Amino acid sequence: MKNKNLKNAVFFTFFFLILILASACKEEPSTRYFKAMDTFMILKAYGNKAETVLAISENEIKKLEETISVTLDGSDIYEINNSPEKEIFVQKDTLEILNFAKSIFEETDGSLNPALYPVVHEWGFTSGEYKIPSQEKINSLLKNTDFLKIQIDEVACSVKIPDGMKIDLGALGKGFAGDKAAEILRKKGIKSALLDLGGNIQAVGSKPDGSEWKVGVRNPEGGDACARICIKDCAVITSGGYERFFVSEDGKTYIHIFDPKTGRPVENDFESVTIISKSGLYADSLSTALFVAGLEKATEFWRKKQNFDFIIITKGKKIFCTAGIKEKTDFSQEFEVSFVEK
Ligand code: AMP
Ligand code: MG
Repeated sequence: MKNKNLKNAVFFTFFFLILILASACKEEPSTRYFKAMDTFMILKAYGNKAETVLAISENEIKKLEETISVTLDGSDIYEINNSPEKEIFVQKDTLEILNFAKSIFEETDGSLNPALYPVVHEWGFTSGEYKIPSQEKINSLLKNTDFLKIQIDEVACSVKIPDGMKIDLGALGKGFAGDKAAEILRKKGIKSALLDLGGNIQAVGSKPDGSEWKVGVRNPEGGDACARICIKDCAVITSGGYERFFVSEDGKTYIHIFDPKTGRPVENDFESVTIISKSGLYADSLSTALFVAGLEKATEFWRKKQNFDFIIITKGKKIFCTAGIKEKTDFSQEFEVSFVEK
């Protein structure tokens, strides 16, 4: 009898050990789907702790949204916008994003400008009630968009804007959110995760089998991706004119990416700008800024910095991209590809 009990005990111990081992080796990712920052997000991660860590990451993204949302009463940005000429104490994250935006504003000759918000709002892009404002109105709003007039006190962790200015971090906030989520995952020991923040991709490590993630770049006309790039541990972020736009009565299309110099939607032959870089904040900032800058200035900027790659898709099915990604990318045959060399 005793012997039989012992045999049973050994059998069950083995059985449970195998179950534990099998679940430890499972290749199925944990996934979380949710809405934040005005978009759908899908976080996917591998490993035992993935579920718990993804929940923490989701929380962190939502917390960041509450801090930097332009519309949410009580957020840092809301407080700053509604108390001009007053020193507002903010979270470290807000300060970091604003400081970063200021440096990109300077480096890109003002192509990325969070202070353009009142102009973007006037055109109806924040409400969906689109209209073409009068030139007088645009000119008067542009007077308050000198982003260098923002006062950032790093020691006090406070921000002050002049009267008439309003700021919005829509062009770079999601990139920062991706960085934050990826940082949490890495710190908690996750080696393999792919985060999709409304089309902005952030990769943590590579796939569980060690191979790289293959990320598609959207074809502006729909259908199969126009490029597929192999990446690990970096961000792939796209700004596309097709993401939000309206067509006026005369049939002209106005996109949601604005030229801060004219106060009007950008009118170049770009369909999209995709930036590949280690930092999501940098990639998101540049995807918008280089869309505004155009091909020549974007190329010039890349030659100067060389710490990112780009894939620019223009009308007429053309792709311009940095030579460094040639080996890592499959391009759709439908597109004519040119490589930009150093
Ligand atoms: P993204 O999709 O990252 O290119 O961000 C575009 C969003 O940022 C727009 O929907 C606007 O709210 C805002 N925006 C548009 N043009 C600019 C600009 N030149 N600088 C900063 N923010 C902008
Ligand atoms: Mg952007």
